[in-house]
Amino acid sequence: MFELYTSLLAAASITNLLVLLIMMKQVGRSAVRGFFFLFLFAISVWGIPRLIINTFGLTGFAYTEVNRISALGYILVPTVFFTFSLAFTKRLELLRNKIIFLYTFLPPIIFLYLSWTTNIIENHAFDATLSTHWGVSSPTGEYFAIFLAWFESLMLISMLSLIGMYKRTASKVQKRQSLLLIIAILIPLFFGTITDGILPLFDIHTFPSAIPLTSVMAILIGYAITRYELFEFEPDIILSHIGNGLFTIGRSGRILKVNSAGADMIGLLESEIVGKNIKEFLTASKKRGRRITANMTIGKTFHSSAYSLITDSSIIPVAITVSPVKSNKKIVGATVLFQDISEEKRQEESKEEFLSIASHELKTPITSIKLYTELLSRKLRITGDESIGLVEKLQEQVERVVGLTNDLLDLSRLQSGKIQLHLEAFDLCTLTETIIDSVRSSFPDHEIVLEGTVSKQVFADRLRIGQVLTNLLTNAVKYSPRDRRVIVRLSDEDDRACVSVQDFGKGIRNTEQQKIFDRFYQVSVKEGEEHSLGIGLYVAARIIKKHKGKIWVDSKLNKGSTFSFTIPLAHSESL
Ligand code: ADP
Repeated sequence: MFELYTSLLAAASITNLLVLLIMMKQVGRSAVRGFFFLFLFAISVWGIPRLIINTFGLTGFAYTEVNRISALGYILVPTVFFTFSLAFTKRLELLRNKIIFLYTFLPPIIFLYLSWTTNIIENHAFDATLSTHWGVSSPTGEYFAIFLAWFESLMLISMLSLIGMYKRTASKVQKRQSLLLIIAILIPLFFGTITDGILPLFDIHTFPSAIPLTSVMAILIGYAITRYELFEFEPDIILSHIGNGLFTIGRSGRILKVNSAGADMIGLLESEIVGKNIKEFLTASKKRGRRITANMTIGKTFHSSAYSLITDSSIIPVAITVSPVKSNKKIVGATVLFQDISEEKRQEESKEEFLSIASHELKTPITSIKLYTELLSRKLRITGDESIGLVEKLQEQVERVVGLTNDLLDLSRLQSGKIQLHLEAFDLCTLTETIIDSVRSSFPDHEIVLEGTVSKQVFADRLRIGQVLTNLLTNAVKYSPRDRRVIVRLSDEDDRACVSVQDFGKGIRNTEQQKIFDRFYQVSVKEGEEHSLGIGLYVAARIIKKHKGKIWVDSKLNKGSTFSFTIPLAHSESL
């Protein structure tokens, strides 16, 4: 048995040392890793001297001296394991509590002193060598039960907090890590306690399994480190290395944490940022400022590119994503990720500038081309020239170019806020009939019907509303090549007039419906279909918004779409 025990001790020491080596080779540093390293170290300091004692059969003075080192190891094991489990479960701050601190660190000092000076907690030495250092001596194992109670209580709390972590965490990696640790540590804890702790209390000395079993634990954890990247996933480390800025805020917007990239962007130290309100660093219009906390309280993730970050030297445009953080189903705060978008903004501005210049410069020559083609077609028609067919084709294309340039001009005017509405009271029915007539003449194969009426005049920009109607109608015609009916409905309710344009064409997928009012958005174009700019609905939506109206779509794929909008009716005072 003695030889078996010695070889098991050797195996345990070697595996513990190997795991220590593996840990040293791992990249990155963290409190968890550091404390686990200390834990393995304590176990090695416990095991290796025992191995030396057993291998060389040390007795007397040599035994006492080497055994002292072993005592240092096993007395420190619960303290180090407890601090490790606090670090792993993110509760290291509990050590700030004086009672917990003293309960963790005072007993090992006392026990160590006693075990080095007397035998009152010494239980390893079956031959009960008396220690007489500093002139104090005592019988063997007198207070061992007290030591054991303290030892086990710390180990038990650690296990419970690991189990708590397993239950609490939503992260799969952390769940797997906690479970592995629980299994790995339970083995030596449970059996070791029985053989090395409880049984000796009753003077039963069996095979002491605590140290050999730690090698099983070390193997399991070593496997976990290499196979499951144990301790690799440390959220705090990841946060500090993330390229974008990240705040963690409380419910009121108080900053609880900022990562190093965020602190660098702001140009202040982490300690100068933490504790302040997020509004001191992120600004937008007042309404938006409130939206961060408002969206957080209702548990909504919120994205925006309309914020600016106030740094110590400048104001940077940023895109932010606010994600609420929940604990026990309650929202406790949020993470706010922010990214510098100065470069994107600059590019956007130069694109818009280019668009504005290009569309303005194109406008004049295109108007002339249109005029000359019209003159040419009139002339050829009079002379009965056969090339009239070609010129008509040319005219069609010129119309398209004119339409596209007008769209681009509208877009650049919208972007620079230059679109002015010329509001007047007018009859929406008459305008709708005129527009229907003009669309009918361009698309004679479609059957466009008008239903309903609006009892009062509307108060709006006639040209712009005509433009919106034309856009919705041409879209309805364009996107319903087979079933060629289009129904335009007019109605009014309270102080609004409502226009809807229904087609029975290809329809729009649910997921696309939100996006089609966005700039340049086109539903994927199939081969052979006409390409367009995807500006029409964006411009239409902006025009209706400027009228304080609403625009929306109801649609089913392959069944058809209904685009509707509302505009204000004329009040008697606006007439
Ligand atoms: P476009 O110039 O591409 O027509 P719009 O902004 O007017 O630009 O429309 C955006 C996209 O919305 C179109 O590319 C088309 O895919 C889709 N769409 C618009 N109207 C309809 C409709 N009535 N039926 C089906 N799809 C439509």
